[in-house]
Amino acid sequence: MGGRKRIWLINTGGTFSMRKEGGGFLPDLAARVPEVAQLAEIEVTCPFQLDSAAMSPLHWQELARLIASRREEFEGIVVIHGTDTMAYTASALSYMLRDLDRPVVLTGAQVPLERTRSDARANLLDAVEVATHAPGEVMICFGGLLLRGNRSRKRSTMDFRAFESPNYPPLGEVGRILELHQRRFRRPSGAFRLCTELDPRVLHLRLAPGRFGSLFESVLDSGVRGIVLESFGAGNLDAASDGAVPTLAALAARGIPVLLIGGCEHGRVELSLYEGGRAAEAAGAIGGADLTAEAAVTKLMVAIARGRDLGEIRAFLARDLAGELTPV
Ligand code: ASP
Repeated sequence: MGGRKRIWLINTGGTFSMRKEGGGFLPDLAARVPEVAQLAEIEVTCPFQLDSAAMSPLHWQELARLIASRREEFEGIVVIHGTDTMAYTASALSYMLRDLDRPVVLTGAQVPLERTRSDARANLLDAVEVATHAPGEVMICFGGLLLRGNRSRKRSTMDFRAFESPNYPPLGEVGRILELHQRRFRRPSGAFRLCTELDPRVLHLRLAPGRFGSLFESVLDSGVRGIVLESFGAGNLDAASDGAVPTLAALAARGIPVLLIGGCEHGRVELSLYEGGRAAEAAGAIGGADLTAEAAVTKLMVAIARGRDLGEIRAFLARDLAGELTPV
């Protein structure tokens, strides 16, 4: 290795490597950004190339297994990924690659690498540099910001600064220099483990004001195994809505968890604040702390694959697995 760090570049597609004409993806990424070789010794693997809207939980599992299989050969791993579902993949990977002992950095681009005014080259160079220096976490490096993956959300379809992490400060900034905020990183509390169990039968619903009870009741017989319910403010809903609270109770009676997340980007769920939140909690809904929707959906998929009953699922959801929530 001769002191040169080895970085594994895993290309899964997205706008980053989409072709200008004729569709499809560029085959030879690293060769198109030769400067990366000045930062590290690069090996490229391309397990699949997809628009990230087509990424499924099966792809997350494949990616996690792939990373685990050869992670010890590299100082860091960079994953090129579409921006649309990058925050879901980052969250899922953070739960699957537990006590990660080296950085896994996701990046992508708003404008394809082939175009003149593309952000792809800068994002790739930043991500590779981060992967040679940062501690073990799943992160998103994009538009000069380094964010914890399971705290991140796509915030813009236009800006080069496409991601934010509303409830956790950036892990670093990549500008003229790379600045890592070491104290904001998680440290592994044990040996690395690969945990790929996950049940994708989770529905994410967002409430609109109004009486929605009978519509909501229809989830009861839909075969869904868990629901992330995005309600208002700090987890509030209309306690008098016909069927809403009874449906929550019926779901709980069937052992189907409802993870209630708030209606705001910033802040956390406080079910005790209002009558609606209190009624939802009494009916069995589980407060989602300050989880993003992406982190909540993926965590619930993991929780229902593991928990034998609602009590176990509830306890699992309350735990901080990979820095995705701020415990009370
Ligand atoms: N549709 C693209 C994707 O998520 C968008 C992007 O990469 O920016 O794959």
